[in-house]
Amino acid sequence: MNERLLTPLDVATLRKDFALLTTPFQGKPLHYLDSAVSGQMPNAVIERMAHYQRFEHTNVHRGVSTLSQEATDRFEEAREKVRAFLHAPSLNQIIWTRGTTESLNLVAQSWGRANIKAGDEILLSAMEHHSNIVPWQMLATEKGASIKVIPMDDRGVLDLDALNTLLTPRVKILGITHVSNVLGTVNPVKEIIAAAHAKGILVVVDGAQAVPHLAVDVVDLDADFYAFSGHKLSGPTGIGVLYGKKELLEAMPPWQGGGSMILSVSWEKTTYMGIPGKFEAGTPPITEAIGLGAALDYLKAIGLERIAAHEQELLDYATQKLNKIEGLRIIGTAPNKASVLSFVLEGIHPHDVGSILDHEGVVVRAGHHCAQPVMKRFDIPATTRASFAYFNDRDDIDALVAGIHQVKDIFGTDSDGSAEEQS
Ligand code: PLP
Repeated sequence: MNERLLTPLDVATLRKDFALLTTPFQGKPLHYLDSAVSGQMPNAVIERMAHYQRFEHTNVHRGVSTLSQEATDRFEEAREKVRAFLHAPSLNQIIWTRGTTESLNLVAQSWGRANIKAGDEILLSAMEHHSNIVPWQMLATEKGASIKVIPMDDRGVLDLDALNTLLTPRVKILGITHVSNVLGTVNPVKEIIAAAHAKGILVVVDGAQAVPHLAVDVVDLDADFYAFSGHKLSGPTGIGVLYGKKELLEAMPPWQGGGSMILSVSWEKTTYMGIPGKFEAGTPPITEAIGLGAALDYLKAIGLERIAAHEQELLDYATQKLNKIEGLRIIGTAPNKASVLSFVLEGIHPHDVGSILDHEGVVVRAGHHCAQPVMKRFDIPATTRASFAYFNDRDDIDALVAGIHQVKDIFGTDSDGSAEEQS
């Protein structure tokens, strides 16, 4: 680690970039511990998008006007920023989508419909978000294929021995989340990809919860496909990315038709553009792409390694504090975790926990987190989930802990020396 990596984040200064975090909400300071659901955008991102809208906007990739050429340049510069962020070999391997969900549907609908047939298997991990389950179930139903699941243990660690048994010649693709949005588990995707590749099986990685916290190198991972959303990464909603290996993307058919993705159209025959154009039908989310580029600039300026170190410190601090609360059970105790802390409180529904915390200005998520199979695996209806970002600090966690004691107080279960725990 060089000296810069060791420099702690100046959170107080960083927070000034976020009006929402520095403005009282319903008369109280806002403790935003819900970045796993959606991050917050710094002023630099909001202003970059506003500037584009005010002074630079028109449609891209169509037209000879200087305005259109410059808008196209800004749009393609953003694609280059994503390429560099993922360490992808070439620009045309970066496809704009609306988000992780659309990226995964693209793989299922384009690669999947062309390559999956009756009797094939699609292997998914037990901790997938619905967006890496449902598109594959739809495909499996259509094709007569089946879904197999890599199990996990009670900590939320995938069973790699079971994985090796499940990697049979019937499996055509493996879908795996890089970081679990419920458990926080960081999966050993490089190792999993190598095991799948050794059997000739492709791997699609859901990176939605990984990119805000880990430096990702798609070449080093050897991922066949890698998907993420802009809004989890300090960017806007409505923009996402699919990275794919060149030869795979080139061989895949388009999945949506329309303007911008064709070379020629006649009543008899349509020919398509190469990658990435053939996957980007219609007017793309231009402002949002430029906003995501600005978000990547912002994060790069802070330093991804410093962000990761800061969030890890917060996760450790919060874990230690929550572990001291009687009747609280952390769901997801893998040794390698990132920025997500799910828990249940004995005898109290997570929705009640979330509502009372909300009243205290502590924003968390309560529910099944679009991962109902994970809830079933742990035999719980829901969890309360706190998630951390670079703009959080120990005050936010102390507010969470105080709020949990308030919840317990209201439900009459706080007999465990709250004063000591809150200190
Ligand atoms: N995958 C994971 C692990 C997620 O956490 C999420 C969002 O919560 C998604 C996929 C879906 O992302 P989006 O709704 O931005 O498409």
